[in-house]
Amino acid sequence: MKIKNIVVGKSSQIYCPGFQDGRIMKILLKKTGQVIHACEECDATWLSLEDIFDDEKGEDLIDYLETLGYIKEGIEVAWDDFSEDQGFVRLQDVEHIIKKYNIKIIPPTPL
Ligand SMILES: [Zn+2]
Repeated sequence: MKIKNIVVGKSSQIYCPGFQDGRIMKILLKKTGQVIHACEECDATWLSLEDIFDDEKGEDLIDYLETLGYIKEGIEVAWDDFSEDQGFVRLQDVEHIIKKYNIKIIPPTPL
């Protein structure tokens, strides 16, 4: 099912739809050129921008990277060796999806 609301913060960064706990990072996997999208707090991971808006989609970052063979259990993760931080997902990246599914943009709840 598509989600109904998405939290968009001050700098137009979108927030993790599950827990609204963090912004969503773009991570380039250098070997294949694949870009994945991961919450900076809970490690929820989506393989495409569209998947972020579907509450049945999502992976765990560490499990996913283990599946692909980038990291191994018990071994310290050398992120820079296989990935590149490409900043956060912003509203303009996903505006077409928000419009397509009529998802409501809401501001973050004040702490
Ligand atoms: Zn999260």
